[in-house]
Amino acid sequence: MHILIVEDEARLREDLRDRLRGNGYVVDVAADGEEGLYYGEEFPLDLAVIDIGLPKMSGLELVRRFRANGRHFPILILTARRNWRDKVEGLETGADDYLVKPFRFEELQARMNALLRRAAGWSKPVIDCGPVSLDTGRQTLTVAGQPVELTAFEYRVLEHLMLHAGQVVSKAELTDNIYDQDYDRNSNVLEVFIGRLRRKLDPDNRIKPIETLRGRGYRFRRETGAEC
Ligand code: CA
Repeated sequence: MHILIVEDEARLREDLRDRLRGNGYVVDVAADGEEGLYYGEEFPLDLAVIDIGLPKMSGLELVRRFRANGRHFPILILTARRNWRDKVEGLETGADDYLVKPFRFEELQARMNALLRRAAGWSKPVIDCGPVSLDTGRQTLTVAGQPVELTAFEYRVLEHLMLHAGQVVSKAELTDNIYDQDYDRNSNVLEVFIGRLRRKLDPDNRIKPIETLRGRGYRFRRETGAEC
């Protein structure tokens, strides 16, 4: 998942960047509205976290510009002021949710999870695909009821595939979701992650949940008639 943070308070910006990267996201940061607009227009984003009070261009104006330019990624706004007008105006302008500062990182992460899941068309936090069950709220995986441990990066790869279950996800799209822009895209690290996930999800090679479509990418198997 590719996240943009637009926040002028350096400590908060860097703290959010580091913690979200630690949770396996690709994170771009911008310190003012104009820089935020650049990142949002130049790169494919899955979600943006935007402070309302920003130099050069306000957070509200930034949200307005993104929506006017046809950018549909979920937007969560941050406001330092307990001012209901900011929240109402932010939501009316096209933001999807808001948090009042100060907030706990866990609450931001929980709201981001909910926005990302809904943007992919899932209403419930748990995605059940046959025996594979991914809890996007707790960020845990079970297979046939047994818990399976994943690293942060493995979790992000699997979450992206399962949120798009039944659809082909290209290698480029998955790579965008797990690595920063300067990453060497020719390496076979993605294949290594997929191989590890397959062994963890399906050690006996029976359910084969992740299909490889040669030259096109990967697809998480969606069973007909099942919820997933
Ligand atoms: Ca600010």
